[in-house]
Amino acid sequence: MGRKAKFDGTVVSTGPGRKAKKQSDPTFPKGLIEKTSGPLSRHQKQRAKKRLLKKNQNEKLREPKAKKSKVSKEVVKREKIQSSADENEEEEDADETPVEETSEEEEQDNEEVEQNQSLGLKSGPADSDDADSSEEEEENEDQDDSDDDGDDDNLLPIEKANKRLKKKQEKERKLAEDEMKDIATHQDIFTFPTEEELANPTSLKDVQQRIRDVIMVLSDFKTLRDKDRPRVDYMELLKADLCTYFSYNTFLMEKLMQIFPLSELLEYLEASEVQRPMTLRTNTLKTRRRDLAQALINRGVNLDPIGKWTKIGLVVYSSQVPMGATPEYLAGHYILQGASSLLPVMALDPKENERILDMCAAPGGKASHIAALMKNTGVLFANDINQDRIKAVIGNFHRLGIVNSVICSYDGRKISSAIKGFDRVLLDAPCTGTGVVAKDPGVKTNKDEVDVQRCCTLQRELLLAAIDCVNARSKTGGTIVYSTCSILPEENEWIVDYALKKRDVKVVPTGLEFGAEGFTNYRQHRFHPSLKLTRRFYPHVHNMDGFFVAKLKKFSNIIPKKDTQKDEEEEEEEEEEKEKDSE
Ligand code: SAM
Repeated sequence: MGRKAKFDGTVVSTGPGRKAKKQSDPTFPKGLIEKTSGPLSRHQKQRAKKRLLKKNQNEKLREPKAKKSKVSKEVVKREKIQSSADENEEEEDADETPVEETSEEEEQDNEEVEQNQSLGLKSGPADSDDADSSEEEEENEDQDDSDDDGDDDNLLPIEKANKRLKKKQEKERKLAEDEMKDIATHQDIFTFPTEEELANPTSLKDVQQRIRDVIMVLSDFKTLRDKDRPRVDYMELLKADLCTYFSYNTFLMEKLMQIFPLSELLEYLEASEVQRPMTLRTNTLKTRRRDLAQALINRGVNLDPIGKWTKIGLVVYSSQVPMGATPEYLAGHYILQGASSLLPVMALDPKENERILDMCAAPGGKASHIAALMKNTGVLFANDINQDRIKAVIGNFHRLGIVNSVICSYDGRKISSAIKGFDRVLLDAPCTGTGVVAKDPGVKTNKDEVDVQRCCTLQRELLLAAIDCVNARSKTGGTIVYSTCSILPEENEWIVDYALKKRDVKVVPTGLEFGAEGFTNYRQHRFHPSLKLTRRFYPHVHNMDGFFVAKLKKFSNIIPKKDTQKDEEEEEEEEEEKEKDSE
């Protein structure tokens, strides 16, 4: 009856009971747990499929698409493949497979859109193509960079940038070479235009091409010429085309073709089409360049020093205010002046307490510079024949605070009879203005031989008068500076050469650091070798208006009295030369 009890309160085990003895250890059919595609019943299969579908849906809902990792995508994909394998076994599930495929495609599309959006690109085939190509480009650039980086790990960023720039320049150079080759190839087949072609106006682009072609032929005339055509035909064609293309009259273009070699002519003409940058001169009587620059920068002016050669010039790149109306301008802290206008005064090199004459001073740009260098000491005579223009000198001198000057209006040719004995004289002579066509394009068409002749005559007379005004015995000076804004030798070297013959003066170095040498040989003319010491300035070389500066030193106040008949003969010879020139 029941278990035997120990009375000491402990239960005594007597072994398993009857039921326990009957049940053996559970055993399972081999591999049942692992098997999923084994011979399951139809219901088992349906339940497994439902579980799988539900699981997939839950996962899709749980994870935002953008964050889905590649691994989880792979799992889902494998599960789907598995599930579709199962489905293939059952005909009634067949229509579910395409639904699954569509959602897979959508998912891929969505992911692409998301990726594109994260790259900042729009979706759509064309855009994705674009994205591909831009990625490729970036990759290529990266590749280039990484090539560099491989070699240049130790380079500073600026050095790397420099290397890249050099590569770019090299590429550009190659492109230019290719272009030249193209031109040369084209040149091989250049044929001289017929009369009819010449009579019928072509487009400016064709004219430009023909200019290049003809310059190419002239550069290797033996090889590239049409055997029946003399050089002069090509030159005439070139002249006509240049006149058409750059809107010059034949007279001036001819002069320019005599001054510049063909290789340089185009550069000059192109540079002359562009206005020079606006520049200003600090009035050192009132301020320092550094302070002026700061004040103007504060007003939104973008500027820089002109160059190392001047401590008072500034170049203005852009400005939010009109430069001729700033408080600094009105207070006389600066004057607007072309960079080339600084040069004659620098060559004149005025000193304090001297007596100086500016013979043709209006509107007073250079004269006020002279006064500043004299530090408002000594006496400056600012003269100009034109009384209207003299008013501008008065206005400028007031504004700039000049107090050491006498402003007068004589004909410079006669001023020596009224006043002389100056330490220095500046003759910034009236001229044809052929150096400033960018400023005054009218010069291209409105100058002719008569204008040049008229200017030459006046310039010669003015220069002799200027020399006569100077005291050769001046302790500090005895110098004359002659300048023009023309590039024609007729108005420059020719005039100085004339003065050398008529007065006891010599050409001395200008003291200017740069500038092309003056001419000593020009066509059939031979000027005094010292003319080499004069200086020419060009827009295409010096990025300033065309200009000429000569400095003379006077050695004697005696005016050489030459045989009048000899003088007349000389002048006749010169006139003949000029006539020959103009033919
Ligand atoms: N040096 C001036 C300046 O920097 O502002 C510019 C002078 S501008 C090139 C030439 C000047 O010569 C003109 O103002 C003109 O009136 C003047 N002129 C022309 N013939 C003259 C003469 N016979 N005597 C004096 N001045 C003359």
